[in-house]
Amino acid sequence: MTFELPALSYSYDALEPHYDAETVEIHHSKHHNTYTEKLNAAVKAAGIEGKSIEDILTGLDSVSEDKRAPVRNHGGGYWNHTFFWETMAPNAGGEAKGALADALKKKFSSFEGFKDQFSNKAANHFGSGWAWLVINGDGELEVTDTHDQISPISIGHKPIMTIDVWEHAYYLKFRNARPKWIEAWWNVVNWDKANDRYEAAK
Ligand code: MN
Repeated sequence: MTFELPALSYSYDALEPHYDAETVEIHHSKHHNTYTEKLNAAVKAAGIEGKSIEDILTGLDSVSEDKRAPVRNHGGGYWNHTFFWETMAPNAGGEAKGALADALKKKFSSFEGFKDQFSNKAANHFGSGWAWLVINGDGELEVTDTHDQISPISIGHKPIMTIDVWEHAYYLKFRNARPKWIEAWWNVVNWDKANDRYEAAK
């Protein structure tokens, strides 16, 4: 199986004015596409063609050590971006819905309490990486982060939502102001999708 760049379910300008069309297009057609192409090369070099991306990322230990880093980096980049695009939608934002809304209130005292913790994790992540809401290995909701393109599924988490805080995700529009990107991003969070993931994972 050769991995292909997944098409977005919305147009490049659909997340305006919160996430600008130019950044979305470059982020998807250049950055995500490069991870996809390099993943295919890394999989071929490691001799692990035919596995799903989930099997690859949850079984990195079985990849020979001298071939593992590019599989981890580009495989994570491929999977994380696909998950990120699906975390967002046009005409979205607002507050969490359904069972996820109840669980967030229980875990973080209030939706605002969750939002503050998630925003702080994203803003304070040092260098390139991602902030995540996951169900961790203990079955608990947790706000966490990963460096570079480490995927949470490689470390036993079931992710619910994510924001990309690599500079390529926001620098064209927001320059160095990562907190402004985070603030804008809340307006495009697809809470229906997040709740579906929560229902499936809990
Ligand atoms: Mn990215």
